[in-house]
Amino acid sequence: MPGYNVHRLFNYAVFIAIIILLHIRDISIINLKHVLAFGAGYYTGTVLLTPDLDTDSTAIKKWGKLKIFVLPYKWMFVHRKSSHNIVYGAVVRILYIGLIILVMYYLLFKSLPAETIFSSVYVFIFLIGIIIANALHILLDTLL
Ligand SMILES: [Zn+2]
Repeated sequence: MPGYNVHRLFNYAVFIAIIILLHIRDISIINLKHVLAFGAGYYTGTVLLTPDLDTDSTAIKKWGKLKIFVLPYKWMFVHRKSSHNIVYGAVVRILYIGLIILVMYYLLFKSLPAETIFSSVYVFIFLIGIIIANALHILLDTLL
C-alpha cells in the first residue's frame, strides 16, 4: 500500500507530465490562469483532500489545528471503502468540505457568498484538479 509521500510524488510526476504534454501540444485554449486553478485544486486533492482522510494518515496531520473539521469525515467513513470510490469519493469530500466552508463563511459574514463565485470557470477547474488528483490516488492504491 503506497504511503503519503509515494502518493504525493506520483501525483506531482503526473502533473509535470500533463504540463509538458500541454506545452508540447501547444493547446491554446488553456491559459496560465487555468493551469494555476487546476494546479491549486490538484495540489489540494493531493495533499489535503485525499481519500486517506478516512484513516489516521499524514493527510489528516497536514490539516494542523483545522484537523477538527476533517475528523468527523474520518469517523464517518471506513478506510478504503466508499471514500476510495473513484466516481463519488472526491465528490463527497468536496461536498463535505464545501459545506463546512459555507457554514464558516455564514458565521463570519452573516450571509452566503455571491452566486458568481460558484459559477466561476476557475472554481470548476479547481474542483476538476481535486477530482483528478483523487482518482490518481485511488489508481495507485489499486496498482500497488
Ligand atoms: Zn488510499
